[in-house]
Amino acid sequence: MPALGTLFLWLLWLAVSAFVGERLDAEGGAVAGLSVALLILLLLQTRRINRLQNWLSDVSQRPPVDDGLWQDINLLLSRQKRQHTVALARLEAEVARFEAAGQAIPEGVIALDQDRRIRWVNRLAVRHFGLDPVADRGNLLTHLVRDPLFAVYMAQGDFEEPLLLHPGHQPGLALQMFVVEFGDAQRLIVSRDVSDREQVERMRRDFVANVSHELRTPITVVSGFVETLLELERDEAVAALPDVLPLLQKQMRRMQNLVADLLTLAQLESAPEQPPMTPVDMPSLLNGMVAEARALDGRRHVIGSQVEAGLQLYGSSTELRSIAGNLLTNALRYSPEGRRVEVIWQRGKDGRGTPCAVLTVRDEGPGIAAEHLPRLTERFYRVDGGRSRDTGGTGLGLAIVKHALTRHGGHLEIESEVGRGSQFRAVFSVERMVPDGD
Ligand code: ADP
Repeated sequence: MPALGTLFLWLLWLAVSAFVGERLDAEGGAVAGLSVALLILLLLQTRRINRLQNWLSDVSQRPPVDDGLWQDINLLLSRQKRQHTVALARLEAEVARFEAAGQAIPEGVIALDQDRRIRWVNRLAVRHFGLDPVADRGNLLTHLVRDPLFAVYMAQGDFEEPLLLHPGHQPGLALQMFVVEFGDAQRLIVSRDVSDREQVERMRRDFVANVSHELRTPITVVSGFVETLLELERDEAVAALPDVLPLLQKQMRRMQNLVADLLTLAQLESAPEQPPMTPVDMPSLLNGMVAEARALDGRRHVIGSQVEAGLQLYGSSTELRSIAGNLLTNALRYSPEGRRVEVIWQRGKDGRGTPCAVLTVRDEGPGIAAEHLPRLTERFYRVDGGRSRDTGGTGLGLAIVKHALTRHGGHLEIESEVGRGSQFRAVFSVERMVPDGD
């Protein structure tokens, strides 16, 4: 019992002081001795309390060394202090782990307090809502996200359905936003970037609208003719057939071409990532296509060709035929009669001097103005819509070329000058070229 020992020592000290005081001076000596002893005791205790207070207020100091009751108190406090420091460090590590986990969440997260003020945001939420993670802490979110839809959504308090938001600070950004209520009227705002999904949805809608638009005209023409024929007397209808049938045939071809190109695109999109590494005899494929084109063209154009013998590619013959076919058809389709169309297949060098194989289709047609060039490979993009449709064009040819070329690790280069003609170069990288002797 160290405390009792200390108490005993103090009492002994007081008794001895009183006894010594009495011995020195018979009258009041004991009281004086006791008082002096008490004063000394008081001073000693004050010093100890002072040392303890200093240590408690400065963690870095060593704990005071004492004896008896004071040493017990010091040890107890020292142990509690150590436990507290360990618990605090653990808590800090835990908070840091939660913070890191919150930052790693693949969605934006904002924690709001009961007053709807921002308590915490993760990096994605900062990007989604254009926030400042430090300066905006403690601010009202509704003051920072200036969208009436957002304000109404937050005010009405019904969060069953998520909100679709288009924040103004980043054009094209679409967010799906959820509100989760937790704890004591606090809220979590969770945001998900759905820009890609929205863009795909928009493209799908545009695509369906374009296809419907392309089909509407031929269907209207065909049904118009059929109705007229049905209304005619049998003899009149038979007499009209030689004029009507070619027109019907043209519209049917248009629809057939459209369906064929749509199927080709769908096949390209659903095909495996890479076309096969099967050797394709490009010289014989191209020579065959040029011969076919000459036969179909019936000398309306001069079709020249320079095909390098033995220059083969690894790939899909169907897709390579599609690339060459679309470029050649376009050159013939848009060039006036009597002009020259040239097909060239040869080795070349790309921009970095690496070998490549190049299919060039050159014409002396009307040419294409520079502003159209970047958009030519978009689906249904046409420079001359009338001429394209009149000649069986679908607006999908160059989209197919680009898609098939990309799959073969190649790319399309277009040069054109209005009034002078165009040159389309399908460039295939060296990986797709069959080495000589294989
Ligand atoms: P289309 O079936 O209409 O030819 P494409 O995708 O093949 O569709 O071509 C897109 C547009 O590019 C065409 O409508 C046409 O206006 C233009 N174009 C393509 N090739 C040529 C060319 N050789 N000369 C002039 N214009 C061309």
